Amino acid sequence: MMNRKMFLTLLATPLMLLAVPAQAALHVFACEPEWGALAQELGGSLVDVTVATNALQDPHQIQAKPSLIARARGADLVVCTGSELEIGWLPVLLQQSGNAKVQTGQPGNFAAADFVRKLEVPSALDRSQGDVHAGGNPHIQTDPRNIALVAAALGARLQQVDAAHAAQYAKAQADFAARWQQAIARWSAQAAPLKDVPVVSQHKAFVYLYDWLGLKEVAVLEPKPGVEPSASHLQGVLATLKGTPARMVLYAAYQDARPSEWLSKNAGIASVKIPFTVGGTEAAKDLFGLFDDTVARLLAAGATR
Ligand SMILES: [Zn+2]
Repeated sequence: MMNRKMFLTLLATPLMLLAVPAQAALHVFACEPEWGALAQELGGSLVDVTVATNALQDPHQIQAKPSLIARARGADLVVCTGSELEIGWLPVLLQQSGNAKVQTGQPGNFAAADFVRKLEVPSALDRSQGDVHAGGNPHIQTDPRNIALVAAALGARLQQVDAAHAAQYAKAQADFAARWQQAIARWSAQAAPLKDVPVVSQHKAFVYLYDWLGLKEVAVLEPKPGVEPSASHLQGVLATLKGTPARMVLYAAYQDARPSEWLSKNAGIASVKIPFTVGGTEAAKDLFGLFDDTVARLLAAGATR
């Protein structure tokens, strides 16, 4: 178990890393840690990044607190996931901020999910099916190829909203893209033994990760997205695994580990905490660490050879 001091250190780490003062900086308000980290990679000392949430908070469920509204009021650029991930809090936050620059449709409003191919786009929207998102599954950051696409778009957006420094943003973007492509090649090679490994997800949070690595989702612990696993649903999953075995069960760092731990114990499979975003685990200190650690944890739990 993590003690309280470690927990607080983990919480504070991304904020401290991102709170580097800059001269006449562009104020970036990021909804989630992965986009804060990406803005910092691409903006360096030209940007001053505020991150609205930390890795141990559920990004679907955030309060539009006055302190966050004040941060959005001073922002030049808001960088969020979109695809309705923040539908419960971001529209209120932006409206309350009174900041015309960062409203939807303005150059100061950037939604990462607009720049990737979405998975699980529902053909018909039925809210009775739980926390289903009309634009498709919003958890795009679990595939590093998506991060590359978002980085290209965000780099272009930084050049647009802060044209005076366009050349510096372009250089940082090219540098990041080169390092990131090398890293993707490394992670993909390392993760090759995970192809076709059957897994269970606690929440439908990893479809992009599975799409990248070829993992096969055979069951989900939440009966519907965003609905806590019930005892009867857990028993049902356990029964499913008798006919369709899985190697491991995955949950995100922000989630209650108990449903995954219950399945782990009862089905005799590994339970794997996925950092899910920057700061989710001690090793996920930046975007590179996020995928280093994700791949390492999956390999430790269930490579085929
Ligand atoms: Zn979700």
